[in-house]
Amino acid sequence: MEILKEKFQKLSGRQFIYLLIVVIVVLAAAAAARLGGEDSSEAAPVMSCVTIEDDPRTVMVLNYHKIANEHKSLSVTLPDFEQHMKWLQEYGYTSITPEELYAFVVGGAALPEKPVLITFDDGYKDNYTNAYPIMKKYGFKGTIFVVTGFLGVYDNYLTWDQARELSDNGFSIESHTHSHKSMTEASDEEISRELTRSREKIKEKLGLEADFIAYPTGTYNLHIADLVRQAGYKGAFTIKYDNVSRESNVYALERVPVFHTEKTNKDFLERIQYLPLVYKYGWVKN
Ligand SMILES: [Zn+2]
Repeated sequence: MEILKEKFQKLSGRQFIYLLIVVIVVLAAAAAARLGGEDSSEAAPVMSCVTIEDDPRTVMVLNYHKIANEHKSLSVTLPDFEQHMKWLQEYGYTSITPEELYAFVVGGAALPEKPVLITFDDGYKDNYTNAYPIMKKYGFKGTIFVVTGFLGVYDNYLTWDQARELSDNGFSIESHTHSHKSMTEASDEEISRELTRSREKIKEKLGLEADFIAYPTGTYNLHIADLVRQAGYKGAFTIKYDNVSRESNVYALERVPVFHTEKTNKDFLERIQYLPLVYKYGWVKN
């Protein structure tokens, strides 16, 4: 304690001011990050006292899996999902496609004022039966990264007809590989085969070019990213929690995962607010 006291007294006036600024910034940020509300009741997060700070340099990419009334972390319930879409609509968000995001990152293209890319991994049937009607109601389109070897094979996955209908209505159908094997556990040959087969399957079944992929289980490294590039994909999505900016690696695009938790909606609000604060306070992205 004595040593600390001594050290503190040795601080020059200028050092002390710096220290004070740091403490204030940290406290302000901590307070702001809690804006989502202390209220623990899930039913009524208070929307009117929430302000989402926008940063036109970044784009939020949401990542869902299942939309179903189940108690699983991968399953966001229908009422929760509807609440998220309602918020996004009320905050004035416009959903974009992976192609539009790519043009923004790589080509410097402009995006609508509040862009959001709403993605789903795996290609579950409930994306069609549950998420799609809700998104239609709020005027949003989504992107589904499908495991091409599961579609039309397993009951809880989309059929190719459902995928086609989604695609005909503005959804993007992209690749999540052919069999969902973690790429960090596969050989180069296996990875290349997975990448090529899933593209070919989407082409064969839907007549579409899949230009984007989401890494199965989110795992990747720079070598794998290069294999993805070599296979002809324009970009790849990870589960690295951040917003996308023009500094992002187009083969390692960041996303904001949305899971079912004890307080899904409070978490959702906190997550969509936290990232803009990172930029607002000038914290460096790693
Ligand atoms: Zn997956």
